[in-house]
Amino acid sequence: RAKEAGGNSYKVFSQLAEDDDQKQLILENDLRNACETEQLLVHYQPVIDLSTGRLKSFEALVRWKHPDLGLIPPGDFIPVAERSGLINEIGTWVLESACEQVKQWHYLNDTLGLAVNVSIRQFRNPQFPSVVRDVLEITQFPPHLLILEITESMMQDDYESVRIIEEIRALGVKLAIDDFGTGYSSLSKLGFLPIDYLKIDRSFTMEMLTHPPIQSIVQTIIDMGRNLDMELIAEGIEEEGQSSILAECGCQFGQGYLFSKPLPAEEIETAYCLSSLLKVN
Ligand code: C2E
Ligand code: MG
Ligand code: MG
Ligand code: MG
Repeated sequence: RAKEAGGNSYKVFSQLAEDDDQKQLILENDLRNACETEQLLVHYQPVIDLSTGRLKSFEALVRWKHPDLGLIPPGDFIPVAERSGLINEIGTWVLESACEQVKQWHYLNDTLGLAVNVSIRQFRNPQFPSVVRDVLEITQFPPHLLILEITESMMQDDYESVRIIEEIRALGVKLAIDDFGTGYSSLSKLGFLPIDYLKIDRSFTMEMLTHPPIQSIVQTIIDMGRNLDMELIAEGIEEEGQSSILAECGCQFGQGYLFSKPLPAEEIETAYCLSSLLKVN
């Protein structure tokens, strides 16, 4: 975990706590407090139609503004939230905040989609479909514009998972497989579960220009997705060359620092997107 830490938050943190268990406990307590004191925030990363350059949607990405440690990236605290069970509360908060925010942007462009990450413990909670339904009702967010991102490992074909997926789909909400190609899954599951989007993991995007075999794999993922009537989204596009190759290979959508980093809502409105939000209409 320490290796993945962004900035120096973790370094500071490691001076505070001696061992991993202790760190875990402190973080967990701080996180519980964070939920109550509005230290969590959501950043938004634009997803772009690679062939037209138009804005398709935003991915909501949670951050934790810790009073002493600064901005902590989700990779450092989502696992803590997962283990402690706080993820249900946090996940619901992210979902509701993001729906509320993007709903406001619908005054400018009412086709804007929103993708929200869902962790395994949330997804496996039997209450999850009704939580999603309640949030849609409270925020009046159009269900067909909401995409829930799950990972391959969550894609079990056991009875309970299939029931949850079907209940979510019955609400009209879309599903995406995040980080596709990096997890463990059998491809046959893709044929049985109703998935709308495949997100090609950043590791493929990073390597595809320099490693021809990786480009072949990406092409194969794209062809497979399209044959299954899924839409493709490439993650981690940082260079123009990656964007154009992906578009040529038939990948319709992409996100990455080339277009924009994830930004707070205010910055999306001012610095980057308000004009492109308007342009779409
Ligand atoms: P993810 O869903 O695969 O999100 C993409 C990650 O890649 C984000 O990291 C994003 O900031 C980063 N990224 C986007 N474009 C680029 C690029 O061009 N270059 C590079 N190097 N990175 C790029 P972030 O925000 O740190 O999130 C990490 C992971 O944490 C997410 O991966 C997701 O699995 C998880 N996560 C984030 N927010 C939530 C949440 O609200 N709930 C849950 N359960 N998980 C979340
Ligand atoms: Mg994601
Ligand atoms: Mg991803
Ligand atoms: Mg990823």
